[in-house]
Amino acid sequence: MIDVENYLAGRWQSGTGEGQPLTNPLDGRVLARVSTQGLDLAEALDYAREHGGSGLRRLGFAARAALLSSIAGVLADKREDYYRISLENSGSGKDDAAIDIEGAIFTLKTYASLGKKLGDATRLTEGDSHSLSKTGDFSAQHFLLPMQGAAVLINAFNFPAWSLWEKAAGALLSGMPVLAKPATASCWLTQRMVRDVIEAGILPEGALSVMCGSAGDLLDHLDETDVVSFTGSADTAARIRTHPNLLACSVRINVEADSINSAIVGTDVEPDSEVFALAVREIVREMTVKAGQKCTAIRRVLVPQSLAGPLADALVAKLAACTVGDPAEDGVRVGPLVNEAQARAARQGVEKLRSECAELYSGQDTEGALFAPVLLRNDKGVDAEFVNDIEVFGPVATLMPYTDIDEAIAIARRGRGSLVASVYSDEPSFIDPLVAGIADLHGRVMVVDSMVGKQHTGHGNVMPTCQHGGPGRAGGGEELGGLRALNFYHRRVVVQGSPRTLQALAAQAVSSDLLYS
Ligand code: NAP
Repeated sequence: MIDVENYLAGRWQSGTGEGQPLTNPLDGRVLARVSTQGLDLAEALDYAREHGGSGLRRLGFAARAALLSSIAGVLADKREDYYRISLENSGSGKDDAAIDIEGAIFTLKTYASLGKKLGDATRLTEGDSHSLSKTGDFSAQHFLLPMQGAAVLINAFNFPAWSLWEKAAGALLSGMPVLAKPATASCWLTQRMVRDVIEAGILPEGALSVMCGSAGDLLDHLDETDVVSFTGSADTAARIRTHPNLLACSVRINVEADSINSAIVGTDVEPDSEVFALAVREIVREMTVKAGQKCTAIRRVLVPQSLAGPLADALVAKLAACTVGDPAEDGVRVGPLVNEAQARAARQGVEKLRSECAELYSGQDTEGALFAPVLLRNDKGVDAEFVNDIEVFGPVATLMPYTDIDEAIAIARRGRGSLVASVYSDEPSFIDPLVAGIADLHGRVMVVDSMVGKQHTGHGNVMPTCQHGGPGRAGGGEELGGLRALNFYHRRVVVQGSPRTLQALAAQAVSSDLLYS
């Protein structure tokens, strides 16, 4: 049996006890075992802070950016191993795994090239210095300095590769060491990537650690110098936010939680138009890619009442052509959910949705971790009890007809804070008020008109240069957004002193304007 070891305090370590099994979702076969029991997590954090943090902060931004580039190189060389683990442990076929693996490599490369722009600086100035005295001999300057603790990155099961590196890129570039805590179910891929990077000897000692299995008492040992970046369910997020030690130390926390994202088809769209076809293509793609296990996936489709019938017909025709099964087999479009427990949870969620919806499509009968696409229709708009609240983490979406733009805005807002909405329209008089009406409750809005056509990067795809995260139930977090990500790993301080002192401190700094350029 493979023991997927932890890398903590600069050494590979096995947890005690039986541990937890990692399984193949299709046949339940046990592939490996993980355990964090008995590990000294206080020591792991101390080691990361002391060795990893100081090692990284000795380097300037450009040198750290070069580390990211080397990491991307190692991962690219070993990518075939990662595809194999993805298939075995997550049931992800080549296309689904590519979003995770190639997405991770692309994000690292993007940060490597963005980070270079910051040159040899080790800190950032924010704004100009300003005088606080009549003579000008006493002034103030805001700075951003890297935090001196560890970045604890707790992730969900659905992106074991990308979710580590999209967070780690910003942390390492800022000079913070990373302790990765992937979701247990799919941690093998994360661990393998970390192992390859450690073996390549790229990073300063202690800059990268990984634990595989339960978080144990990790949060008890964090202090005011550390940060937590969390992705996962709203329930776990609430437990982390209210953890007594994190509250006592005011530990900075970023939360990316679940979200009831919408696709909104405009009132101007005709069934035979290009924009209609673009909407159909994207909705089906979002339902089926990674079997709908994406926090950004389209869950609600808002459509003008007159277009609901044609849209349903077009979606059903495409969904009917999607084969569900073993992604290693030719022609299979929808692979399994990550395990049977997730499939059970998805089935329970769909039953609740069905209780207030009409069924438009339900795919072939499935069992175990397989889950066929389901398309529902709900005419209750903002009054729907479950459709606006329950995130079924699988290939499931609900059509929601609306009467006018005000109702479309109200339904989208009823998601109470979402990661992303996509809008399909060629009519500025629809697009402008709609975007303005929903923007404050969304992290990202993607507008597809006939000028954009097929060039868009996708409703669910997270681009490293664009902000990821949403308000309200989506967690209230912000990740990525290019160099904006560095804000989370730096602390703002205003230093007051003589211009001579401030200039000396600023000599090692670069303007934070570059974070937004
Ligand atoms: P989850 O059950 O909330 O777990 C997320 C992570 O938290 C896992 O690593 C889990 O470890 C860990 N965890 C659980 N309890 C903890 C505790 N008390 N202290 C510290 N860590 C703890 O979520 P999931 O089932 O893996 O992922 C699915 C959910 O994530 C969906 O709701 C989805 O929408 C959301 N998600 C959001 C985003 C986004 O960017 N907004 C992206 C992907 C997924 P164990 O696995 O060991 O329990």
